[in-house]
Amino acid sequence: MEKYWNIFISSFAGYANYLWNEILNPSWGNYFYWLLGLSLFFWLLEIILPWRQHQARIRQDFWLDGFYMFFNFFLFSLVGFNAISNIGVEAFNDFLALFGVRNLVAFEIQSWPVWAQLLTLFVVRDFIQWNVHRLLHRSEFLWRFHKLHHSVQQMGFAAHLRFHWGETIVYRTLEYIPLAMIGFGIQDFFLVHIFATAIGHFNHSNLNIKLGPLGYIFNNPQMHIWHHAKHMPRRYGANYGISLSLWDYLFGTAYMPSDGRDIELGFDEVEKYPKSFMEQQWHPFLEGQDADTTPAAPVEEPKKLENA
Ligand SMILES: [Zn+2]
Ligand SMILES: [Zn+2]
Repeated sequence: MEKYWNIFISSFAGYANYLWNEILNPSWGNYFYWLLGLSLFFWLLEIILPWRQHQARIRQDFWLDGFYMFFNFFLFSLVGFNAISNIGVEAFNDFLALFGVRNLVAFEIQSWPVWAQLLTLFVVRDFIQWNVHRLLHRSEFLWRFHKLHHSVQQMGFAAHLRFHWGETIVYRTLEYIPLAMIGFGIQDFFLVHIFATAIGHFNHSNLNIKLGPLGYIFNNPQMHIWHHAKHMPRRYGANYGISLSLWDYLFGTAYMPSDGRDIELGFDEVEKYPKSFMEQQWHPFLEGQDADTTPAAPVEEPKKLENA
């Protein structure tokens, strides 16, 4: 256990240094300035080519979502890549070693050209995320966390990264094993992550840019807005695509009955959903308790693991 704790602590310390360096040293390989640049770019486009012209340039929850953007992208998403995935990798390798498995890599992808590696990483990861996203809608427990993303009532690029940190854990954990099996390392993620962030900003943006036939491959604002519709024809929703809309067309979960520009967004009783950041952090944990109407039974102390 101490080993994992040390990895956790040193990952955090390493991360704090890394973050500070990122802010002080703008470069092309720098997440911080990419996120800032992409956000300004899409904001400017929203001002020039708004889809909903009456929507304020600084829409409802703009600053809250802006905060989520940096919170999730830095404080959690990358710590996810660092602290959590470092522990995950170590624990998972230890687990495999119990069965005498030393190496998980099933494909020799390192011998491929770089563009083919990146393309494969992008497509495979997006397909995994499409499946995880469906799961977030189908599992009642996970939906409590994902609801935060769906509490957006006025759409704009910054809504992209409004989600609960619990989601990051689910995504990273479920992504890791298959991606590690193909032989990808964390350093491969940079370009793919930046590209995916750009598409994510785009499909949440208030932009009147139509992709034409490319819309059958890439996610876009006209399609993703229906994913946020308050009233869906199917119980678990539609248009789960993250970067690619392709999966929804292939598996019959695409839904765009009409122009979605002015549809109502959210879910039933979205008006009652907490509005502040801190309340939103706790909400998924409290919500489950509200649902339980039977008197609470005395809870047994969980047994302590011996020096685990
Ligand atoms: Zn969703
Ligand atoms: Zn969304």
